[in-house]
Amino acid sequence: MSSTHPDESFFSSLAQPGIQRLRAYDPGHDLVAFRRRFEGRFLVELGSNENPYGPSAKAKEAVLGTIHDSFRYPDPLGGDLKRALAAKHGVEAASILLGNGSHELLMQFAQVFAGPGADVVASKYGFAVYAIAAQAAGATLHVAPCNADDHAMPRGHDLDAIAVTITPTTRLVYIANPNNPTGTWFGADAFAAFMAKVPADVLVVVDEAYAEFVDAPEWASALSLIQTHPNLVVTRTFSKAYALAGLRVGYAIAHPGLIAVMERVRESFNVNSAGLAAAEAALGDDEHLRWVVARNAEQRASLAEALRARGLMVFPSQTSFLLVKFAEPGDEARVARIDAALIDAGVVLRPMGGYGLGHCLRITVGNADENRRLLAELDKVLA
Ligand SMILES: *Cc1c(COP(=O)(O)O)cnc(C)c1O
Repeated sequence: MSSTHPDESFFSSLAQPGIQRLRAYDPGHDLVAFRRRFEGRFLVELGSNENPYGPSAKAKEAVLGTIHDSFRYPDPLGGDLKRALAAKHGVEAASILLGNGSHELLMQFAQVFAGPGADVVASKYGFAVYAIAAQAAGATLHVAPCNADDHAMPRGHDLDAIAVTITPTTRLVYIANPNNPTGTWFGADAFAAFMAKVPADVLVVVDEAYAEFVDAPEWASALSLIQTHPNLVVTRTFSKAYALAGLRVGYAIAHPGLIAVMERVRESFNVNSAGLAAAEAALGDDEHLRWVVARNAEQRASLAEALRARGLMVFPSQTSFLLVKFAEPGDEARVARIDAALIDAGVVLRPMGGYGLGHCLRITVGNADENRRLLAELDKVLA
């Protein structure tokens, strides 16, 4: 750790305490290197929950329309998109906060409402960003156990366990519904009962990144409780069902007073012109959204069935991905070999070691061609 040849640990020692203990978000495989290696061949990229159908034609056209004026800053208020979102969700525009992806907003909630001395609560197998957000803010993360937590078969969030993990120093709770990486979800009644137990000064951030894909009748968006629970925040994204992951647009809906506090630290031009225009146009194309969601539901069911027919355990999912158990816990090395062999065959899935689920892989539900190819390559690898 000499100061003439400093390494990462030297600079880490200069960082804020929370960041000293932090590890960077693990994106899985290096996809750009992978694409270069397989240039000109049919690649099956099912590692990042990207939408295989692409965005609405209206969104693509809207992006092209922004090129000419891209020497100007984007609208710092995102007024048009906020009004469109307000109309869609039946809330006032002042209840909406736009983000450079919802990831940015998830980080910002911890920055604003948690810090040194504050506690943040999330569930076991919750989305990785929550832990990063809490630690980066200097807060302490408390992980609540999940349902039937025998590790081999992670179930959904245990809302009772989350409620009892809340203490007087808790400022923030992160919950994804449906959850990534498990694909699991909880119903509206269970969530209403949970919210009744949460003190008014504890913010509950419900991450609904996969909301559009849900068809379970017991599920409902937490948006229906926003009016009665001012401590409730719902985040959504244009990255998944709307297929605009590359343009980075997400949003949060909450009490206007809460949004106003968040606005104090929002970067002025955090959502770019192309993203604003594309998101607004995508929102206006319900037909494309319905088509994407129907294709996903059909492919999700057939892929799950095909994987189960091969003796694999597939967790129930209301999302655009499946969590699949490829080995018993303890045999992570076998799953790493399967993952590597699939990579060599041009199929990318998402390793789950970072979640303590190294015996599983997460598979984005592809289109029919991609899923067929995945299954064909998987059959060779498993043989
Ligand atoms: C993909 C995802 C996000 C969205 O990220 P963006 O920054 O909006 O692209 C948020 N939460 C969960 C659980 C996700 O899986």
